[in-house]
Amino acid sequence: MATTEKMLRFVAVPQQMPAKRKAADRRKDFDEIYSAYSRAKAEEQASRCSQCGVPFCQVHCPLQNNIPDWLKLTAEGRLEEAYEVSQATNTFPEICGRICPQDRLCEGNCVIEKGFESVTIGSVEKHITDTAWAEGWVKPPKPPRERDESVGIVGAGPGGLAAAEALRRLGYQVTVYDRYDRVGGLLVYGIPNFKLDKDVVRRRAELLADGGVVFKLGFEVGRDGSLAALRARHDALLIATGVYKARDIRAPGVGLANVVPALDYLTASNRKGLGDEVAAIADGSLDAKGKNVVVVGGGDTAMDCVRTAVRQGARSVRCLYRRDKRNMPGSQREVFHAEEEGVEFVWLSAPEAFVGRGGKARKSGPEPVKSVRALRMRLGIADASGRQTPEAIEGSGFDIPADLVIKALGFDPEDVPTLFDAPELAVTRWGTIKIDWRTMMTSLDGVFAAGDIVRGASLVVWAIRDGRDAAQSIHRHIQAKTAAPLAAAAE
Ligand code: FAD
Ligand code: SF4
Ligand code: SF4
Repeated sequence: MATTEKMLRFVAVPQQMPAKRKAADRRKDFDEIYSAYSRAKAEEQASRCSQCGVPFCQVHCPLQNNIPDWLKLTAEGRLEEAYEVSQATNTFPEICGRICPQDRLCEGNCVIEKGFESVTIGSVEKHITDTAWAEGWVKPPKPPRERDESVGIVGAGPGGLAAAEALRRLGYQVTVYDRYDRVGGLLVYGIPNFKLDKDVVRRRAELLADGGVVFKLGFEVGRDGSLAALRARHDALLIATGVYKARDIRAPGVGLANVVPALDYLTASNRKGLGDEVAAIADGSLDAKGKNVVVVGGGDTAMDCVRTAVRQGARSVRCLYRRDKRNMPGSQREVFHAEEEGVEFVWLSAPEAFVGRGGKARKSGPEPVKSVRALRMRLGIADASGRQTPEAIEGSGFDIPADLVIKALGFDPEDVPTLFDAPELAVTRWGTIKIDWRTMMTSLDGVFAAGDIVRGASLVVWAIRDGRDAAQSIHRHIQAKTAAPLAAAAE
């Protein structure tokens, strides 16, 4: 078949995602929910692409991935070349293929979507790189020559790791500091295994270590060393520490026992899955087994919580969200999966108060929660962002039984200048680190920042983009610094 005949097959070939496990089976474990494409299926699905002259999929991919090219190479059975093209713009394609909200990014903008449903870009991307791993095509970063200069990176999430990889390729001596005991940031301790298998992250961490990246884990900047000390140790620094301050609910009873922040809950579950002893699961305080669970919030974190609770064997799982389904910030695909798995959504509802059971949860702690008193909401006039503001309907209160309430209302940055003892580090009015977007440099010379700590809570793919961009800027900065004395000496 001629090369061109292999493509544009969207009229004849229907969209087909990789096989999805049955909801009843998914509820019993934390394994990923999609199986892999066979090679033939990946080739067939890639061939649906119409090779647009102006590929909107690529425009709406934060990494500007060369999607039409790697789809064509896949359709032609040239997977190793497809991998080369794919990894040229994306440090972790198999991770993005699994967890990017494709319905809002590449696939949501695929031009054949209207009549024929989009090309399954994310699943093909995952197939290409999973095959590359299986075939041994994925290699540690190997610089053509080593450089003496060193770069310190604070934070081993996707932003820090993408920068580490790019800087190692350029030959820099790279040390990544992280307060956690494992590499990956939210890829490991936030996102559940059923979306992203932890082995996928682990093998990336090992590859970077094999390529010469040094990891100093259990090292918290601010506690185990100051920013100033790291600046003195390295030629440049990158801050990629993410955002972790959970937004709270202001309602009576929010301090009751078993009303918990989402990330505490998800981290405990992920740690257990990784084989750690987790006291809060052993004592039941962060375990949904046999409980009526209410998750408050409507974003992707809330979806991860409800689906984790289902897998832990909760008696019932409800998601309370103050807007309607159409106005949810989370990916519609994730909502659909949660519904399939038996989660009940209580739309247009918000907590008014948390009601206690009486007695004490533990010896000295507050009493445990018994129910959530909720109010029905209606959507009023649009605010400055164009979203309709929810308004409480008077006298609409109702009670939902709850033995565990999980607060998933989003995250803000911590007070980084104070934590890092660096008052001169400028931040925005939202507390994110202020950078010059052309260079990604902060207000401190030679200190750069990337990922959620700059953007606010965002996406893995944006953190990767920032990390790659920051690496290029750091390279230019160090080059300019080392070139200046040479130029002066030559004069
Ligand atoms: P992080 O991943 O947060 O990594 C920051 C690292 O810095 C951490 O390892 C932390 O320990 C370390 N650190 C912090 N402070 C210090 C310090 N003082 N000293 C040393 N180390 C420090 N995005 C998607 O694209 N798809 C999804 O499906 C998705 N699901 C999500 C689910 C949940 C529950 C959450 C919370 C987020 C989700 N996201 C998702 C968002 C995504 O995880 C983040 O946007 C992304 O991880 C940000 O990367 P980062 O490198 O900036 O920060
Ligand atoms: Fe789509 Fe994300 Fe891959 Fe870009 S990185 S092509 S947005 S799945
Ligand atoms: Fe192919 Fe869709 Fe991208 Fe067009 S928008 S190049 S059809 S994947």
